[in-house]
Amino acid sequence: MLPKRVYLNGEFLPSEAARISVFDRGFVFGDGVYEVIPVYGGRAFRLAHHLQRLDASLSAIRLANPLTSEGWSGVFDRLTQEYADADQSIYLQVTRGVAPRDHSFPASTSPTVFAYAQPLKYPSADQIRSGVTAITVPDIRWLRCDIKAIALLSNVLMRQMAVERGCAEAILVRDGLVSEGAASNIFIVSGGVLITPPKGPFILPGITRDLVIELARHHNISCAERAIGQEEIFTADEVWMTSSTKEILPIVRIDDRSVNSGKPGPVHTRMQALYQDYKQAFRKGEVE
Ligand code: PMP
Repeated sequence: MLPKRVYLNGEFLPSEAARISVFDRGFVFGDGVYEVIPVYGGRAFRLAHHLQRLDASLSAIRLANPLTSEGWSGVFDRLTQEYADADQSIYLQVTRGVAPRDHSFPASTSPTVFAYAQPLKYPSADQIRSGVTAITVPDIRWLRCDIKAIALLSNVLMRQMAVERGCAEAILVRDGLVSEGAASNIFIVSGGVLITPPKGPFILPGITRDLVIELARHHNISCAERAIGQEEIFTADEVWMTSSTKEILPIVRIDDRSVNSGKPGPVHTRMQALYQDYKQAFRKGEVE
């Protein structure tokens, strides 16, 4: 279902009335970046972190941020009014704008700025309780996976491979190392330590990933950011995927092999509780 209203270049419009040019560089080249931000109790979760990552993505593709933080907040406040009582997700996208097709940057164009909010689609209770399945696939992406680029063709193809094998996620492997999921970050628990690959050009610096590490450190769960070899996911005690909309999902089967007992593990149960408590405190305005 389409959201009722969208924000497009300064206007709030019914979805069906919003129009962009077929010469938009987002459409023609995938020349743009995006963010997805959850909203709980009417407040955008980890907003400063998302806006910081947006700034990093925009500056990596050499686009100025079209709005100030206050400007973005004003847009989000209006968009989220439509479904005020529901948990929501905001999608925003900035492209390099409309110009005759030419790879190099146009001399002067204004960016296309698009955003909408819709009720958040959580994973099912069964997925959270029993876990999900994944396959491993070669990471066929480029060398700037830290940019949250709208050009997601490789991610689309890799996720589709997982879906066609009846799985929820594809775990991407580059040079024998796990990078991340097609649309998530990956954690393992091994020898009592929570481990996730370090930030760098091969992964998106996930906002959920950062919060999970923050919660682990705060609650004395030992945690390391280090490379994960492909084989380690098969011998790990637990494997998880994290993202703003899926939160923290246990992965219990990979390439038709059970992870440990094939059930979500105790560290996941603990982290899930810590994450939900944090969200609850956020709803009440007790944490930022
Ligand atoms: N990696 C990729 C490739 C993603 O697409 C996403 C989610 N959009 C993530 C990681 C998780 O990031 P976040 O926790 O900020 O949603």
